[in-house]
Amino acid sequence: MEREVRVRFAPSPTGPLHIGGVRTALYNYLFARRHGGKMILRIEDTDSQRFVPGAEDYINESLAWLGIGIDEGVREGGDYGPYKQSERRDIYRRYVQQLIDAGRAYYAFDTPAELEAKRAEVANFQYDASTRGSMRNSLSLPAEEVKTLLDAGTPYVVRFKIEPGRDVEVNDLIRGKVVIKSDILDDKVLYKSADDLPTYHLANIVDDHLMLITHVIRGEEWLPSAPLHVLLYEAFGWSDTMPSFVHLPLLLKPDGKGKLSKRDGDRLGFPVFPLEWHDPKSGNISAGYRESGYLPEAVVNFLALLGWNPGDDTEVMDIDTLIQKFSFDHCSKSGAKFAYEKGKWFNHTYLQAMPDAELAELFKPVMRQHGVNPEDFSDEYIRRAVGMVKSRINFVSELWDNARFFFVEPDCYDPKAVKKRWSEDTPAIMEELIGVLEQLPDFSSAASEPVVLGWIAEKGYHLGNVMNAFRLAVVGECKGPHMFDITELMGCEETVKRLRKAIKDIHQEA
Ligand code: GLU
Repeated sequence: MEREVRVRFAPSPTGPLHIGGVRTALYNYLFARRHGGKMILRIEDTDSQRFVPGAEDYINESLAWLGIGIDEGVREGGDYGPYKQSERRDIYRRYVQQLIDAGRAYYAFDTPAELEAKRAEVANFQYDASTRGSMRNSLSLPAEEVKTLLDAGTPYVVRFKIEPGRDVEVNDLIRGKVVIKSDILDDKVLYKSADDLPTYHLANIVDDHLMLITHVIRGEEWLPSAPLHVLLYEAFGWSDTMPSFVHLPLLLKPDGKGKLSKRDGDRLGFPVFPLEWHDPKSGNISAGYRESGYLPEAVVNFLALLGWNPGDDTEVMDIDTLIQKFSFDHCSKSGAKFAYEKGKWFNHTYLQAMPDAELAELFKPVMRQHGVNPEDFSDEYIRRAVGMVKSRINFVSELWDNARFFFVEPDCYDPKAVKKRWSEDTPAIMEELIGVLEQLPDFSSAASEPVVLGWIAEKGYHLGNVMNAFRLAVVGECKGPHMFDITELMGCEETVKRLRKAIKDIHQEA
């Protein structure tokens, strides 16, 4: 019988979740949903030295913001918990013992100083079959001495006994079969008595097994660990249920080779974290996608395409479409350039698709930030204003610069435009325009435009000059949406008021 697909995202709470980690979580989620399986969130906190307070909450909040749903985890619960490794010490102790009893692992008593001395003495020293005999461990020392050391509570580590001369096969669903020689592997530390905790390798394998994980989907940086993991499954006798491996391509710098780093983000001005991160030690704040004005849907769509494609040119896909199309067949082996400008384009695209009423709600806090009370305007007014300018924006915050004039009258006028468009006879023409506007029975765009244009033609005025002066008076600069759409929304009274103010305030410098 086919096993139910069960995948896990297994971050270590050592700092803010990086955007590459978010992509790993997303691919796990898409794959789980695609196959009607389960998505597990496991917190790998066995490295107490690197633990950072707040990091676990940050992970949860990031995934929730992006809509990456978790089926089993610390918060969600589930039948295979605890889902936090620091709460699974008893389990690991048992499995470490199992390997020792089976002769697949051994105690090593070498102190850090002794190891240091050895490394200084032997170039490229590796703790393995060729060197372990000269070290202080339960394979080299007499059984009596080992017992004495253990009874005395001497600190030790447990090392995995790697047999040399083996070909180790890793089957990766993106990379195919990768074969390496076991000789290049060292006898990895699996457990440290000093913290009574296993290392990443042991905890990771034991948990994947006990949590019935079917696919290990993670970043390429874990590929070098995979042969060791294969050997661990074998040593435990779990090879039959070993998960499939999927190592995702690296995220690369936007402008060149090498791994994407936080410094690239600082240098080029884009976030590398999903949410703003306040470093508890340094107090430094790092930018987040959420606080920078990205929609979660846009971030998800953008990330999904960094290393995967649907098999055609489709770019804009909501989460349901991504789930439906996702497979490892179209994942690339080579790194994906972090084209952050494309991220902006996705945000733009999702903002355009959003109903104006929804966009207007997102705009209200921005209005408040700029000292305008949204309550002073009807929802319909805000909605229509936003609808008229939204094609120009990538972020909600940019609505302010584009729609400001709908809410506050100009307090200054673009000097260049004044110079070009406001001549000595302009005030008189604008007075005349006020007369035309006040006579209009219908102030709608469709009704007012032909009347005003007719008047300009009839008088033989210069169309561009009159219309630009009109715009300058109402908007404050010669930019913005269609003029008669603006005045329709503002209404006759406000339009005339602004024309009068401009006539009074604009003075052409001689
Ligand atoms: N704890 C590892 C990490 O921080 C997990 C790697 C894996 O998925 O096996 O990414």
